[in-house]
Amino acid sequence: FSRSKAGMRTMILTYNERDLADLEHLLRKLIDADDPAAAQMAHTLIGILRDGKGVPKANFRPIILVPIADWARIQSGHADEVTLICTDGTTMTGAEYMEHEFGDILEVAAFHPQEGPVNLYYGKRCANPKQKVMSKLLCPACAFPDCKHSAETTQTHHINAWRYGGMTNMDNLAELCPFHNGVNADNRQGPFGYIDNPNARIHWVAPNGVRVPMTTPGAMELLFD
Ligand SMILES: [Zn+2]
Repeated sequence: FSRSKAGMRTMILTYNERDLADLEHLLRKLIDADDPAAAQMAHTLIGILRDGKGVPKANFRPIILVPIADWARIQSGHADEVTLICTDGTTMTGAEYMEHEFGDILEVAAFHPQEGPVNLYYGKRCANPKQKVMSKLLCPACAFPDCKHSAETTQTHHINAWRYGGMTNMDNLAELCPFHNGVNADNRQGPFGYIDNPNARIHWVAPNGVRVPMTTPGAMELLFD
């Protein structure tokens, strides 16, 4: 807790990623997207603490990426050695995965080592729900380096801009937070660089041409690199 400055104090909280992912999801769900997020989230958090309503657990169900090799290790009794990544940017061990109750439906997505996910062609600007799920598997967090937004809050971005003929295909989609989606909009010469994806490996290209991989690895990196 900081000292006061102009009648305000700052609190920095470091805690278990899963608890904070639940909290972040709840706070983001309750804000108005047109106004700055931070102040609204702080206001909502204080409201929750004052009213004692609490933060619901497992508010949403993240998708867990399970590379085949890791799945085999889990099944053969080495679950503790395996770390799995979830689409909300958190991780869990294979043992935790086994303990969870995931319901009757297991969603499976197929990925090719170079081509990426199975291509679905849609002549619409907005990605359909299945494409959005697949895109979040490729990009479990905003693809911009060190951006803290998990895929639960990102938007599906056209790597080649829709207005320049970029299709809503899996090989043209990446996840960016609303801010980075805005600044990457359509202009590859801009000060924020751009997103590219040769061999289905999504990364950021800096204005000086340096290629920077995603901070949070996605399905392709986890499965094949
Ligand atoms: Zn971002």
